Amino acid sequence: MKRIIITALMLLLCIAMPLTAYANDIAGNVYEIDDRTIQFKSNSAFTEEEQLKIVNVLIEDENEIAPYNLVCSLFSHKYTSEIITTTTHNVRSSAPKCLLEKINVSVCSRCGYTEKEHISSSYINCHQ
Ligand SMILES: [Zn+2]
Ligand SMILES: [Zn+2]
Repeated sequence: MKRIIITALMLLLCIAMPLTAYANDIAGNVYEIDDRTIQFKSNSAFTEEEQLKIVNVLIEDENEIAPYNLVCSLFSHKYTSEIITTTTHNVRSSAPKCLLEKINVSVCSRCGYTEKEHISSSYINCHQ
């Protein structure tokens, strides 16, 4: 019974957030830039445009200044958040060489302000 209620809630959420709907069909959502691989969930709530923006913010590694938006300054940002995985290859000279990080990214669906929060990091062997 509990599961049915959760499923119903999820469905309601999907209907309430039309943004989530059209990113669902894009498989993979993996971006390779230089020695970095940035991976979104295959059913990511972020649109392709948002993903590209997030990739930019992560590569530049700086926090964005929020664009002025009247609604956001009155009611604060309306965030969509998701944990994404980034791998920076060959950062160490001995194995495991690659740095795997999990980052919680929040994007305001109104003004596009992007915020990131580091969750965890570990070293892995993904390249031989
Ligand atoms: Zn905002
Ligand atoms: Zn690697």
